[in-house]
Amino acid sequence: MNLYQSVSVLKGVGKEKEKDLHSLGIFTIHDLLEYLPYRYEDYTVKDLASVSDGEKVTIIATVYGEPVLRHYGKKSRLSVRLLSEKLLITAVFFNRPFLKRQLQSGKEIIVTGKWELGKKQIVVQHYRYALDKHIKDLNSLHPVYSVTGSLTIGDMRKFMKEAISVGIHGIKEILPSDLVKKYRLMSRGEAIKLLHFPVDAESGKMAKRRFVYEELFLFQLKMLAHRYLSRQEKEGIQHSVDVNSLKKFIDTLPFSLTDAQKRVLREILSDMKSPYVMNRLLQGDVGSGKTVVAAIALFASVKAGFQGALMVPTEILAEQHYQSLHSLLSPHGIEVALLTGSATPRQRKDILGQLQMGLIDVLIGTHALIQEDVSFRRLGLVITDEQHRFGVEQRRILRQKGEHPDVLLMTATPIPRTLAITAYGDMDVSVIDELPLGRKPIETYIANFSMLDRVLQFIRKELKKGRQAYVICPLIEESEKLDLENAIDVHAQLREYFSPMGFTVGLMHGRLSPQEKEEVMKSFANQEIHILVSTTVVEVGVNVPNATVMLVYHAERFGLAQLHQLRGRVGRGSEQSYCIFLADPKTEVGKARMKILKDTDDGFEIARRDMELRGPGDILGTKQSGLPEFKMADIVRDYKILEIARRDAAHLVQQDSFWTESSFQPLRDYLQKEGILLGHKLD
Ligand code: ADP
Ligand code: MG
Repeated sequence: MNLYQSVSVLKGVGKEKEKDLHSLGIFTIHDLLEYLPYRYEDYTVKDLASVSDGEKVTIIATVYGEPVLRHYGKKSRLSVRLLSEKLLITAVFFNRPFLKRQLQSGKEIIVTGKWELGKKQIVVQHYRYALDKHIKDLNSLHPVYSVTGSLTIGDMRKFMKEAISVGIHGIKEILPSDLVKKYRLMSRGEAIKLLHFPVDAESGKMAKRRFVYEELFLFQLKMLAHRYLSRQEKEGIQHSVDVNSLKKFIDTLPFSLTDAQKRVLREILSDMKSPYVMNRLLQGDVGSGKTVVAAIALFASVKAGFQGALMVPTEILAEQHYQSLHSLLSPHGIEVALLTGSATPRQRKDILGQLQMGLIDVLIGTHALIQEDVSFRRLGLVITDEQHRFGVEQRRILRQKGEHPDVLLMTATPIPRTLAITAYGDMDVSVIDELPLGRKPIETYIANFSMLDRVLQFIRKELKKGRQAYVICPLIEESEKLDLENAIDVHAQLREYFSPMGFTVGLMHGRLSPQEKEEVMKSFANQEIHILVSTTVVEVGVNVPNATVMLVYHAERFGLAQLHQLRGRVGRGSEQSYCIFLADPKTEVGKARMKILKDTDDGFEIARRDMELRGPGDILGTKQSGLPEFKMADIVRDYKILEIARRDAAHLVQQDSFWTESSFQPLRDYLQKEGILLGHKLD
């Protein structure tokens, strides 16, 4: 039988079931075989003596005595004594009063349910008479598939049995044979068969392990083949970097670079000098000094005769970057300009004209940079700050403003390595893993609402010293369900408390227009506002060194990485800074989360733990993050396999034989199917 025959050849697949199979993406026998169950029903018979409290069990037992039925309004509870292996236990059935007549004394039945050790009782989920055909099903795991329309799980099991018996031998190995051998992986066909119908837990585990590896390996191969092939194209810009002028520039900085900054700079500059297109992610915790690294890279690009662009997510950040880069670069004859949505048509026209003529060397801005009429003369380097705020598409448009410019993405949300090589696996990653010397660590406190008065007094003391404070709230509107204070409420309360003392309280939230937000932020930066009450819109990159207090309401409602970001808004000046998380965590996990923040200020460690607690998607914080959905693998649980699969894939794409030998044809077919153009490599 041909694996690529339509599923309609299977017994019992008529027009309607065929249509329903199609809507699950199943067209051929092969598709069906690859449609794996998402869980199993476990009918393994266990000896009650060895079962622990709360565990799910299946037993065979004899009804012993009369069932007792009780009604509670519409609900009912039926209990009956069962004899199982000389052990007398109670079986409880909820809301199934009709069973009273069926459970006759002396009948043999099979029950599956939750074992309550203390009461010697089983809460029954599933029961059948102990007929031969049912006993045959025992001691095994039964696949459960997601189904739709007229399809039942029973149908799927039946179709699958037939498909396996006719088609499983046609399933080919896709993984390189030396890797299959090295890790003693089960063959693809065998693994598929066992995933549908596991023989025992151990072989099921081996089958799953094979697919986890396969899934991660293929994914990494796709990323790394893509990177390898785009490097082969050698069409990037070769920046000729003048080392002497670069050294001189670095000497004029008001501080000396940290070792980590020097290291990432070497990595970046070597990419820029190479004929390859740089595609690099620069990670560094808040305050680790990414901006100056960007400035040096921009300096190098301009001195090599190109223009540079720096895109940031908000106007306020654009302005801050403009000011710091302007003061660093313009003494060296580099023309820096700012382009945001609030430029007047006249200013905008001037900037665009100068940009096109090459009179502007470095352009800094918001999304305004990727508008259609923005064109550079010789764009050599593109940098995106706080890159997780941008979508893949926006970054692509900016890149296409030049002819294969070098690209650097910067992020202050530390991404654990497993996540980085998954979401950004086709990029190189540089990490600034050290903070500049002499930073005073921020003092972090966890407080509950009963301590609010003391907290406010503390803030008052700081304000009296001339400092400022942020107050962050999770919601902008009253939510009846959650009964949380919202930013508007908190703002009103704090104003009542602080204005008699002569302090101004500002308010910022997501419903304000961009201009309004700018206004508020500016007044805060100019110290016209002393306390800024805000939702998390201040999270990104803003720098107000005079702010020394960060107070977060309902901290338990935020992700850890986000709280860490918020904490990074203070501690930017020379004064001691404080971060206070107001939280009433109810659960142990909630308490543990708060403790993590108090215990460590290492953003990577926090991100790693946050990922374990909340899952990877929430860390990247955007739907456009490009994080794939794995069927079998879980990058948190399977991080070791992920590392190994990446190493194996990296090794493979370096081999010439991979691109030529016929044994790798199935993998090359896979890459092609995934849209990786192998064309010129095959010529
Ligand atoms: P981030 O990585 O969060 O964007 P910034 O680039 O804003 O951090 O840097 C934070 C502050 O640290 C800035 O005021 C910057 O001037 C300063 N800084 C950067 N590098 C160093 C260094 N090597 N030594 C001392 N201060 C530094
Ligand atoms: Mg920054």
